[in-house]
Parts: sequence; structure tokens; C-alpha cells
Amino acid sequence: MNSQRMPMIAGNWKMHMTAAAGLEYLHTLESSLSAQDAVEVALFPAFTSIYPLCQVAKRVRLGAQNMYTEAEGAFTGEVSAPMLRELVDLVLVGHSERRHIFGEDDDLLNRKTERALEYDLQPVLCVGETLEERDAGATLERITAQLTRGLAGIDKQAAQKIIVAYEPVWAIGTGRTATPEQAQEVHAAIRSMLAGKVSDPARIRILYGGSVKPENSLDLLSQPDIDGALVGGASLRVEPFSAIIQSAIRLNPA
Ligand code: PEP
Repeated sequence: MNSQRMPMIAGNWKMHMTAAAGLEYLHTLESSLSAQDAVEVALFPAFTSIYPLCQVAKRVRLGAQNMYTEAEGAFTGEVSAPMLRELVDLVLVGHSERRHIFGEDDDLLNRKTERALEYDLQPVLCVGETLEERDAGATLERITAQLTRGLAGIDKQAAQKIIVAYEPVWAIGTGRTATPEQAQEVHAAIRSMLAGKVSDPARIRILYGGSVKPENSLDLLSQPDIDGALVGGASLRVEPFSAIIQSAIRLNPA
């Protein structure tokens, strides 16, 4: 962590948690957080929970797990940036499950990123290599391509608003975490790759995601270019998620 960047601990609930369960969770989580903590806490619930959670969230920032490229039109089942912006100001773009299960490619994600920025949503652009790419020594090549295509044609000043999440595909939901050194190496490389794509790479937050849990969070978050965590499984219960937040608070006291 680096004190010039506010750490963010974000929970991606994926397709878990009803609105009723989410409200109970949010109430418990908020009562454990102080307004003074120098850590931003965010949750990405399912679309159906966003509205009820927004009505009560005070300390926790909310975001959407996905959005469509177009602002409106005949796109049954999709949700657009201006619709989301009425409720939240954060959106995940290109989570590995969107890329691998739903076939979203870098060009589509580029259009989503551009549209999110146009409507003043802060995109969390997710990148990461597969196990085959890592084993073939192609990790940085893959991530360079994801960032270059994902941010193509977007003005540097506008792109400065993004958050990047580095999530090695082989570490998501597998219990296998990148070591702090492996993650730091890629995070530092991502910061260098951002030169020329954003106006000030030193101020961009780069979150790590992939089996983050209370036991490994302090070591991961201690790395100089890891500015927070995107947490899947361990965000589904308040207790482990709070413990991860506490690791960040310890490393970045107010
Ligand atoms: C994720 O969904 O972004 C994620 C990192 O999941 P997990 O923490 O379960 O690996």
C-alpha cells in the first residue's frame, strides 16, 4: 500500500445473496465500520439488491457487477450506464467470469469502459491471465493486451478515473492465491503499462483479487503497488470480509 492512494476493499457477491440477506449483512458491516477509517469499502451486489441497499448504505460504496455497452434501446435483459448511475457510481468491467463464461472480449469491454466513463461511473477494469498463459510466460503480454485494448481510444484524463483489478484467473475461487511477490510484480508492471493510457499512473488504484482471505490479506496488502482487494468468496460473510478490511486499516491508519 502507498499512502497517496486510498485503499479499497471491495466485495463481489456474484450471483449470491437475496436483497433481504444483503440488507442484514450491510447493517452488520456498517455498524463495524467507522467514518474515520482511511479505507474505502465497496460492495457489488446483484442488480436486484442494488436499489434496496442504496437506500440504507452510508459508509459503504455500492457498485454493479456488469452493465451493457449502449445507453438505451431494444436490448432485453440488459442494464445501462445511465440507469445504474441513478443508484451507484461504480461498475465492474470484464470480471473473468464475464470474459470466460459469457465470452466478453476486449473490444466489448472497451465500449463498456468508455460508456461507464461517459456517464460518470467509475469502472473497475478487471484483467488477469489464465494458468496456461502464466505457465507459458505470457502473463504480462496478456495483461498489456487487455489494458491496451480495454482503454483504446479513451482520453488519458477520462481514463484517470478507472480502478484496475488484477485477478489471475487461476486464483479466482480456487483457494490458490498468487504469492505477495507474484502479485506485486504484476501490479508494478500494470502501473508501468498505464503510462500513456492515463494521465497519472501513480494515482491509479490497482486491486488484487483471487482467493483473498483474512489469513493472506495483510501480506498481500503490504505490497507497495497493491492498493486494495476485490474479494469474492470471503465477502459472502461479514466476519471474514471485516477481517480483510481490518488488515487494510492496520496498514493505513487514519
Ligand atoms: C472475484 O470474484 O473477483 C474473486 C476474486 O473471487 P474469490 O475471492 O472467491 O477468488
